[in-house]
Amino acid sequence: VNGEQAYIRWLRQRWVAHPRVLVGPGDDAAVLTWPSDRSVVVTTDMLMEGTCFVLAQAGARRVGRKALAVNLSDLAAMAARPVACVVSVALPQVGGRAVAEELYLGMEELSKAFDIPIVGGDTNSWSGPLVIAVTALGECGPRGPVRRRGAQAGDWLLLTGPLGGSLLGHHLTFTPRVREALTLVDLVRVHAMIDISDGLSTDLAHLCQESDCGACVEAALLPIRPEAEQFDDGRSPLEHALHDGEDFELLFAVSPEDGASLLADQPLQPLGVHLYRIGSCRSEKTLTLILPDGRSQPLVPRGYEHRLD
Ligand SMILES: [Mg+2]
Repeated sequence: VNGEQAYIRWLRQRWVAHPRVLVGPGDDAAVLTWPSDRSVVVTTDMLMEGTCFVLAQAGARRVGRKALAVNLSDLAAMAARPVACVVSVALPQVGGRAVAEELYLGMEELSKAFDIPIVGGDTNSWSGPLVIAVTALGECGPRGPVRRRGAQAGDWLLLTGPLGGSLLGHHLTFTPRVREALTLVDLVRVHAMIDISDGLSTDLAHLCQESDCGACVEAALLPIRPEAEQFDDGRSPLEHALHDGEDFELLFAVSPEDGASLLADQPLQPLGVHLYRIGSCRSEKTLTLILPDGRSQPLVPRGYEHRLD
């Protein structure tokens, strides 16, 4: 109990006033101001030691950073602006205080970078492994939210960066594409969007299912991270790029006219992000992969899925 109180005192000392936060950490709940013409976008994500990360390898600071980053990525996928977040943790009883501080310092880095104050949460300890759950609140401008549904046959599919091999480190250090999404919806009408968390093949299937369409992906156009070549597991770099997941790039559908102008203008270049076209949506409700030699084959979703028996 003492440990928890001391930790909360430490947290409150780090608190910085924010114009959207009327009541911050330390009360029974936080209170935010909210413009009456904006809707609230809510998302939550839980990371579990053993399943989502290995604490000894990743380090608590990077785990904290990732816990917030994955939520920011979901806000980005809706083209929502981050407003505030809350964090719940189940800490290991032994060494839990140090882990808690490191988690917080990792989250604080992104919290400042994306102006998303951590307004509260719940701190617990137990004999089990580390669990951290973040809930993030965002708001949409006049053009949001962008949904997974809305892609149309003939739309171009664009991607904000290369894929594959994220497990070798990128999944802990990626920059959520929040600014990129907000820039895109200001420039063009984004028909549908999703962030690549489970793998391109699986997330593209989600987008197509919601949009009631199919798609073809051209392997020769797909940008692949150099890390995707560093595996010796019998799977090609292309397969890693298609199925690995945790890339946290944005996949989105736009009209061919908007797609062509985005590719020509590369408006995200000031953010260090290059846009790639990887394929098109089709009315035929299947996923197809066109290989570099021109042959085509079904693109089977083989990304990550939590097991539920
Ligand atoms: Mg998502």
